[in-house]
Amino acid sequence: MITCKSKRELEYMRKAGQIVARTHRELAKAVKVGVSTMELDRLAEDFIIKAGARPAFKGLYGFPYTICASVNEEVVHGFPSLRKLENGDIISIDVGAEINGYFGDSAVTLPVGEISSETQKLLKATEEALYKGIEQARAGKRLSDISHAVQSCAESHGYAVVRDFVGHGIGSKPHEEPQVPNFGRPGRGPRLKAGMTLAIEPMINMGTYEVQTLANNWTVVTLDAKLSAHFEHTIAITDDEPEILTRI
Ligand code: MG
Ligand code: MG
Repeated sequence: MITCKSKRELEYMRKAGQIVARTHRELAKAVKVGVSTMELDRLAEDFIIKAGARPAFKGLYGFPYTICASVNEEVVHGFPSLRKLENGDIISIDVGAEINGYFGDSAVTLPVGEISSETQKLLKATEEALYKGIEQARAGKRLSDISHAVQSCAESHGYAVVRDFVGHGIGSKPHEEPQVPNFGRPGRGPRLKAGMTLAIEPMINMGTYEVQTLANNWTVVTLDAKLSAHFEHTIAITDDEPEILTRI
């Protein structure tokens, strides 16, 4: 069942979303050549706890860390580690926070030092695909209108959308119905209503859309080892413009 959130629930989700957004702002300042992804994890955890919230991913289905830190060909669910970021890397950071029983979830892919113009294009196109998806998150539209918009945008730039992982409903649980794929034909699936809250999250690959999971059973990488980017916002459908809950 897809739930529509009350005004009070949306207020809690705004609060969670703002903490996630502020965590991303701190992380963006810290991402530089030589920093380890474990340092970023510590920073995020401290920040979320000081804000009075709880890291939503830590312990979720057994995930051991606060952030997912996915570098270069890693698509999602990368483990923070002692690996130091190098010039020209890209890092996707996924952050979730819970406060008063409600969740926010957002991801961004950041450049480390100087990245190639080819890589810049991937980041820009993935963020653009996210906003094309959000644009469709309106009362009266169908769920797959979001999916189709994301896919069309990514493919128009010559990239591929990951099939094996999708966006999701979010609210009093970190993952709720419905699944929000980043691909598909428009005009299908449930009709969107004001009060629905979704995490829209394109994962876009430079090469093949195919991915595999590493031996740690978490980290997902591209099958061809080419780069992948990931952008995500938690949004609320309203009677007017979609509201982005994880943007400052
Ligand atoms: Mg996320
Ligand atoms: Mg998510």
